[in-house]
Amino acid sequence: MMSDQDPVVGIDLGTTNSVVATVRDGVPRVIPNRSGQPLTPSVVAVAKNGKPLVGSLAKRQAITNAENTVYAAKRLIGRRWGSKEVEDARRVLPYELVAGPEGNDIRVMLGGRPVSVAEISSQVLAELKADAEAWFGGPVTRAVITVPAYFNDGQRQATKDAGRIAGLEVLRIINEPTSAALAYGFGKKLEKKVVVFDLGGGTFDVSVLDIGQSVYDVVAVGGDTYLGGEDFDRRIMDWLTFNFAKENGGVDLRQDKMALQRLRDASERAKCELSGTPTADIHLPFLAAAGEGKAALHLTKQLSRDKLEELTKDLVERCIAVTEKTLKDAGVRPNQVDEVILVGGMTRMPRVQRAVRDYFGKEPCKGVHPDEVVALGAAIQAQALAAPAAQGGEVLLLDVTPQNLGIMVVGGYFQTIIPRNTTVPTNQTHLFTTVQENQTSVRIAVLQGESDKATDNELLGEFVLAGIRPARRGEVAIEITFDISADGIVGVSARDVDTGQEQSINVTATSGLTEDELKRIIDAHLDDQLEKKQSSADLERARARVAATVDEIEGLVPAVQKALERSRFGRDAVQKAEGVLARARLAQEGKDTDELASVAEALDRTLQLFKGLAATPPDGA
Ligand code: AMP
Repeated sequence: MMSDQDPVVGIDLGTTNSVVATVRDGVPRVIPNRSGQPLTPSVVAVAKNGKPLVGSLAKRQAITNAENTVYAAKRLIGRRWGSKEVEDARRVLPYELVAGPEGNDIRVMLGGRPVSVAEISSQVLAELKADAEAWFGGPVTRAVITVPAYFNDGQRQATKDAGRIAGLEVLRIINEPTSAALAYGFGKKLEKKVVVFDLGGGTFDVSVLDIGQSVYDVVAVGGDTYLGGEDFDRRIMDWLTFNFAKENGGVDLRQDKMALQRLRDASERAKCELSGTPTADIHLPFLAAAGEGKAALHLTKQLSRDKLEELTKDLVERCIAVTEKTLKDAGVRPNQVDEVILVGGMTRMPRVQRAVRDYFGKEPCKGVHPDEVVALGAAIQAQALAAPAAQGGEVLLLDVTPQNLGIMVVGGYFQTIIPRNTTVPTNQTHLFTTVQENQTSVRIAVLQGESDKATDNELLGEFVLAGIRPARRGEVAIEITFDISADGIVGVSARDVDTGQEQSINVTATSGLTEDELKRIIDAHLDDQLEKKQSSADLERARARVAATVDEIEGLVPAVQKALERSRFGRDAVQKAEGVLARARLAQEGKDTDELASVAEALDRTLQLFKGLAATPPDGA
């Protein structure tokens, strides 16, 4: 049962890792997962035996089961099938992507079944929810989830859907850098101009904020949803495969999924190591077959920090170029920034830190934990939304929309209706008139993006406004209102100015899941949870039965011992009983209800025997 008293959490749903946090006794803190770790890998898999796996268990088997292990789903969420980004991803991902039933979104082939990306992400969210429930010892049903500031409507919508599938009421979708700033400023009563530089596993985000007391006013955001740690890893992989081919007569490692996964892991490890050391050794024995009758090929290579910096120079430059553009949008010069907060695992790379320092002319702030700060901010926001009064001073977040929102106009051009960096929530009304005699419908394509050419931007949806009264062209005025919610999600409504008649129009969300499909998935998921709950109730019952019988047997032990002192009978049976009790202790720790039932029967037999023995008169009496 959901209740307002249930705890609320903040979730950083990351490309590589995810984190869940909460505010307890006024202090934001990370909730460790059930293995005691603060970070949970954002990896979902179906094991070779058909078992679904999430987190580190899924990550651990990625090498041997690459086709059925999905990582970096965040790079695909809310994307359209056929887009350049998806085509690029298809070339490098070891798992297969197919088009959704409507042909516009992506499905991942997992365990032989096409699965929507929102469902994949929902499994990571469900895992974090379960971790939080284990930690609180009760249900957790409400959360704030963070997304890169640069996510468009489709990506936000799909993330929200993922939350719903996981059984969470998503209180708000907030931007990761804003969230980081919230955690940074928490309880400090600052008056500062702050830049959050967030380079994660898959995305880069930069935000400029004015923090004044408890008001967090985002002035401008910028970013690139296809720039992150994995691009750095791929540069190392490319360098390794190129050199390997050169040294081994053209053997192409890219053809071998298992070898690729090992290379990916080793590349990431080397990259992280090089943040602390000048060189890293990469050693991958038995990486490839050399051919019939020949020994397997090993890869041994040393990578220096200098070489890594050379291989990834343009990626770091891209981060700075995006930062420059965002500062320009904000009308702020680098030297006017009071503090630069580094967020995301990739900001541990010394070259990245150096680039930031050189650009801003000051040391970035090292006071926040780059992996945890986003989840902590989300927890603060969740707490403020759930119980603002209890919060003491409220936190006011004034975020902005990251990309221009507009429509396609004659000639395939893009007309902006709500410009980027407008504070959300917001709405804008636009007046349309008919362009033909007796026109009874208009078709409107809603897009988000930076280009003047409509087709270069992301199509959020198209709708047809029908039922317009026939009249001379230009006579009918239709007022269309575009709004962006505090989540950054887009809505559209239309009104005939003369008649006042309103039409509510849904821009089809690009999460790819229709409302029906979403409901079906949520129902199936609830059934699953119910099944799990039922089976956990069965487990508790079986354990209780075993515990009660063990207690009863142990209660009889003194009487049985006395009886054995008096009689030779039953000594063998008592030895066997010890075995049964040991088995019972083991079964009580496990989750196998069949084993518990079988132990319970053996215990029943022992109990009857003990009762009999306790009542046995001395031999020969
Ligand atoms: P995040 O999405 O914030 O969890 O960032 C994850 C990215 O940070 C991954 O690409 C990691 O490989 C990278 N990362 C983590 N630790 C380090 C490190 N010490 N040096 C360089 N990159 C790192």
